[in-house]
Amino acid sequence: MSRIGVLALQGAFAAHAKVLQELGHQVVELRSASQLNGLQGLVLPGGESTAQWKLLEGAALEKPLDGWVRKGTAPVLATCAGLILAAMKVTSPEQKSFGWLEVTVARNGWGRQVNSFETDIRIAFQNEEHPMQAVFIRAPRITHISPGLSVIAQHDREAIAVQQRNVTGVTFHPELSGDASLHRSIFGAET
Ligand code: GLN
Repeated sequence: MSRIGVLALQGAFAAHAKVLQELGHQVVELRSASQLNGLQGLVLPGGESTAQWKLLEGAALEKPLDGWVRKGTAPVLATCAGLILAAMKVTSPEQKSFGWLEVTVARNGWGRQVNSFETDIRIAFQNEEHPMQAVFIRAPRITHISPGLSVIAQHDREAIAVQQRNVTGVTFHPELSGDASLHRSIFGAET
């Protein structure tokens, strides 16, 4: 069993916690810097990235969290708003971010007509492609990727999931499709 943190300041953290618990992990709802001690993995959930950044600053969590992730010793899954926080650059509108993943993301990049949609994708992990249902909710779009990153999933030939060092960033909500395989590949499982 691993001890996995889920950033729980705002947004879709409960569904991630459920998936991780089903995989046999102990979940820590991360709200303060002292809880980073002893974590063996971390999820940054979807939600509203501007609100999440303000709450991170308010909780004095932004710098300790940044240092913890940059140590590079534990896997991190950043989904949707979490990917926005993890990106190097954010547009529409611009806002602060951690810069763990060398990508540019455009917030709400699919336009008003298609705020939310689901589609079948293939995602690569453990050297294999896996089918998966991807749920997009006011999702960001990855508009630029630096050469050092691996693209692990695409939709219409556009990157929707990337990996760099210990951080995996996805534009969709893997915790909502009833399929734990991405969480399992990143954090392992007891079950
Ligand atoms: N639109 C949100 C933002 O810009 C992200 C949406 C999500 O996480 N589902 O922060």
